[in-house]
Amino acid sequence: MSILSTLSEALPGRAFGPGSPEYDAGRTVFLGPGTPDAVVRPTNSAEVADAVRTAVAHGLAIHVRSGGHGGEPATDGLVIDLAALDAVTLRDGDLVDVGGGAHWSDVADALAPHGLAVTSGDTRDVGVGGIGVGGGIGWLVRTHGLAVDLLVEAEVVTASGDVVAANADSHADLFWALRGGGGNFGIVTRFTFRASPVDGLVGGQVRFDDSDVPAVLRAWREVTLASPDELNSTLLVMPPFGPEMPGGPQLGVALRGSEAELRRLLAPLLELPSVTEVALAPLDYGELLEAAPPGKPPFRFVGGNGFVPELSDAFLDACVQALDASAPTMLMLRALGGGFGRVAPEATPIAFRDAQAFLVVNGVLGPDASDEAAADLLLEVDAPLAHTSGRYANFTQEYGDDVLATIYPPATLERLRRVKAQVDPRDAFRPAHHIRPA
Ligand SMILES: Cc1cc2nc3c(=O)[nH]c(=O)nc-3n(C[C@H](O)[C@H](O)[C@H](O)COP(=O)(O)OP(=O)(O)OC[C@H]3O[C@@H](n4cnc5c(N)ncnc54)[C@H](O)[C@@H]3O)c2cc1C
Repeated sequence: MSILSTLSEALPGRAFGPGSPEYDAGRTVFLGPGTPDAVVRPTNSAEVADAVRTAVAHGLAIHVRSGGHGGEPATDGLVIDLAALDAVTLRDGDLVDVGGGAHWSDVADALAPHGLAVTSGDTRDVGVGGIGVGGGIGWLVRTHGLAVDLLVEAEVVTASGDVVAANADSHADLFWALRGGGGNFGIVTRFTFRASPVDGLVGGQVRFDDSDVPAVLRAWREVTLASPDELNSTLLVMPPFGPEMPGGPQLGVALRGSEAELRRLLAPLLELPSVTEVALAPLDYGELLEAAPPGKPPFRFVGGNGFVPELSDAFLDACVQALDASAPTMLMLRALGGGFGRVAPEATPIAFRDAQAFLVVNGVLGPDASDEAAADLLLEVDAPLAHTSGRYANFTQEYGDDVLATIYPPATLERLRRVKAQVDPRDAFRPAHHIRPA
């Protein structure tokens, strides 16, 4: 019997092979289409469990698809496409149940009428699944922490096909591992998050020309270190991309407060002579979320990310050095501290809680650039990375045990491996950042 027939028997009407629209939707991710043996689209946790049991019994690699914005397309095995598990239900005041296949736009849109939000990522299109088990560095991370910090409970289908509710009191080790350990531990069919009030938000953009980038970096540090947790900010320094995108620093900000208070907090930045545009106004949380680009950008990015323990002079100088590289370079600094820093390092797998900021730095090459050119450029842009600790798995597109060792501190990785051995001893779930059982 073909694997598709076997799956159709186990999951009538839910299994799809090449030639069907459901197969095409399930096999296609942000980076392009894959070639899995089959796609299943379960509609509840019992069907997800059937899919897992069937895949395990037949030795099929399992690929979980939520929003499809993480990782490479599947080249074999079974895609379990959670698209049908996209319900968002507000219950008990501020607790919100979210299906494992919903998008963050579904969550923002459902909560907006209630003046609530769950801080997530920056875009509407990214899935709740990948962020819900990966981290979630979003617009309001400084006020409320990561998306995983707001997780109260997860309904999980384990490798043995059991459906369990993991929370602080029940399956507590699994609950810990899920909040940053990625898709290694099971398939979350329902996330229950604690939503936060977001009425009365004010924010927007401040743009600068590139005449004095070091001054912008120093002023951003001054603002970040002096501000209350309510101020969320991201400083992006972009190279010019044609006449319509001239490049230079851009600040994105959001504060729950008044515009006058926001301007007062931002004064060291707003007073700089290189300011070219100030667009600050009351806004809804949903307006902060951007549409993701339609697919993989046509560039080769060279660089990395990391948590910045101290916004020191040496770190800022290294940022300036990277921006002077021979190829166009983009740099993103996101303010942390606040709610992110109030979570204990051992409370979740994302341990670098003393960070004052999060850094992404990338040199930009053409899509066909050689490995040699990429290696040369890395030497030019990696100076600020030397001042960081750890890495954010969801922004790290290099894989392997040596990479895992840069994402998690040794004790955290060891604990993740022990939990893996408890809940998935035969290693059925092997996502891109694959954590092996201890
Ligand atoms: C354009 C773009 C913008 C981004 N912006 C941000 C941002 O602002 N902040 C941020 O933190 N990250 C951001 N990311 C990174 C993002 O967090 C990861 O790519 C994430 O994995 C995407 O989740 P997904 O559900 O869309 O991806 P998917 O490809 O569907 O899932 C990725 C992996 O997560 C696991 N997984 C997914 N769903 C489940 C589930 N229900 N249960 C268990 N495991 C599951 C699986 O291992 C799967 O392979 C961005 C990525 C892109 C491409």
